[in-house]
Amino acid sequence: MGQWKNSELCTIRRNPTIEVWLFTKLLSSHQLELFHCSSTYRSLRVGALSVEPSTRSPLFFNIPSRHKEAAMTGSVDCVTDLSQVSPVLLRKYIDGCHMLHQHDLVDAYGHLSVRLSNTTFLMSRYLAPALVASPEDLVIYNIEDAQPVKPDAPRGFSERFIHSEVYKAYPAVQSVVHSHSLEVVPFSISTVPLSACFHMAGFLGTAVPVWDAASVYKDHPSDNQDMLVRNIKLASSLAKALGENGQVKHPVVLMRGHGMVVTSESLEMCIFNCIYTQQNARVQRSAMGLGGEVKYFTQREAHDTGTTTGMGAVKPWPLWEQEVANETMYRNQISQPGSGRD
Ligand SMILES: [Zn+2]
Repeated sequence: MGQWKNSELCTIRRNPTIEVWLFTKLLSSHQLELFHCSSTYRSLRVGALSVEPSTRSPLFFNIPSRHKEAAMTGSVDCVTDLSQVSPVLLRKYIDGCHMLHQHDLVDAYGHLSVRLSNTTFLMSRYLAPALVASPEDLVIYNIEDAQPVKPDAPRGFSERFIHSEVYKAYPAVQSVVHSHSLEVVPFSISTVPLSACFHMAGFLGTAVPVWDAASVYKDHPSDNQDMLVRNIKLASSLAKALGENGQVKHPVVLMRGHGMVVTSESLEMCIFNCIYTQQNARVQRSAMGLGGEVKYFTQREAHDTGTTTGMGAVKPWPLWEQEVANETMYRNQISQPGSGRD
């Protein structure tokens, strides 16, 4: 592990009640991670850069490219080899794959990715997420064309284009999940929209968009219509449903008869968004089954609950880590930070 430096302090977001700062943490000569704190956490004081990290509740981010100016050393313009990636991030990625499986968000299918740089991202090879275990299972891809950086890379997922096109369209997105959640798919084929009605999922907003592959098929009728997103043409169309002008408006978009794509500015929050999207779907379907009128969040309620819980992955992440660590079927061969083996 690297040492704490006198990191630059930069405020990235302000509102009347919550302030968020990013700190940089030096992990190696090439890698920095950002340390995220909020004024809602008692231990953080403005400018208290010397506070011991262990006394705060940290949420680690891989480096958003837009903040690289704040980094003191190293470059994130191009990460092409796993040796350039911090073990902390690699371990977190593998844990994330396992968490998605433990929460029934993926089975043999579905995948997680994380951005490494302006031009590359990381995904597992063609393997069920529960079985991802070691660096040999990880592949670095070019964002431009979703092709592996190394020509001898193992086979990858056919739908990795979903990830590459989202990273290409939205520079702030740091992590992407594609899931076939059975709780969520019904909302992709119904006229009832998936809508925020549970306070942990305000980020969904008042209606989650549904992207329909048929919107592309209609212009290319001779194409295979198996609903899979395995080329740039389909994936770029899907990515457009998330937002516009490089800004994400909807962190979650459903895919008709298929699943969903979930995004966030950190890997932890991407897992968080997946888990609570699924829980909101479960709550909404349960309420609809009661037969009365379902009262959904207003736009303001969705916004405010989303803002509050958006600061909250600090709390569940260690729980989710412990849960997957306790399951013998999940193996993470990247050494635990601080174990003395890294
Ligand atoms: Zn799929």
